[in-house]
Amino acid sequence: MNASATIDAQRLTLMLNELRLPAIKQIWGDFAERADKEGWPAARFLSIIAEHELAERDRRRIERHLAEAHLPAGKTLETFAFDAVPMISKAQVMAMTAGDGWLEKGANLILFGPPGGGKTHLAAAIGLGLVENGWRVLFARTSDLVQRLQLARRELALEAAIARLDKHHLLILDDFAYVSRDQAETSVLFELISARYERRSLLITANQPFGEWNKVFPDPAMTLAAVDRLVHHASIFEMNVESYRRRTAQARRSGPGRPPAFATIKGIEKQSASDHQDNA
Ligand code: ADP
Ligand code: MG
Repeated sequence: MNASATIDAQRLTLMLNELRLPAIKQIWGDFAERADKEGWPAARFLSIIAEHELAERDRRRIERHLAEAHLPAGKTLETFAFDAVPMISKAQVMAMTAGDGWLEKGANLILFGPPGGGKTHLAAAIGLGLVENGWRVLFARTSDLVQRLQLARRELALEAAIARLDKHHLLILDDFAYVSRDQAETSVLFELISARYERRSLLITANQPFGEWNKVFPDPAMTLAAVDRLVHHASIFEMNVESYRRRTAQARRSGPGRPPAFATIKGIEKQSASDHQDNA
């Protein structure tokens, strides 16, 4: 017997629309047919279509969060070569993408290292992992965000703008130390840091160690206060490796047979440099 024969299917479609149950609207017909054919209990049928609606709802929510996160494309943990940064524990990074251990208490993550070392890639990949696990993330170049906050301040809406960022459990500030030295600019950054302190997490990438941040904050007292809040609950990754691009280019040049073991590239370079001297 056709499942839809005994009810007004058109009316059911309208009701499911009204109830905002699009997944059930799509699948109930097929499942009802199977249930009838295989003699499922009604409770099982109901439970299965409800599960589908929930799963679909999760998927759509994550899709929305992914769109709002503005993550740079293609930077994933799968494509990140952890052996290129031996000082970083893959297990720790993986654990951090679960989020609960640190985002719940508003702890921070700070990635230091020279240009090309993979800070932006790792930050974006962690952000992506967190979104996939249900957290809300926003990725921003620090200078862009500072500009937006400055604009808000001019419109006397800085507090509201900072409050709106609260919906993101993690705010990624890429290239923190690139911000130009301007009193008004850096004070919006300071207010952002203060507002999120112990409530909402920040992930900061920077080419400059804390010692150089006096260039970011013109006032040493403000630098000290900002750093103090940032590091109070923070993990710090020092990615002191040579530019990944340069190293992969080097590995390609060294020809076939060379294993792409990034951690040993320095050794290879030294080796070939002394070979060269010996030959000369
Ligand atoms: P940084 O932000 O530290 O300057 P990036 O993250 O922009 O460095 O890295 C430069 C380029 O090298 C990017 O294309 C990035 O995807 C790639 N890259 C860097 N480190 C790694 C790595 N460990 N594994 C894979 N790709 C990497
Ligand atoms: Mg970068």
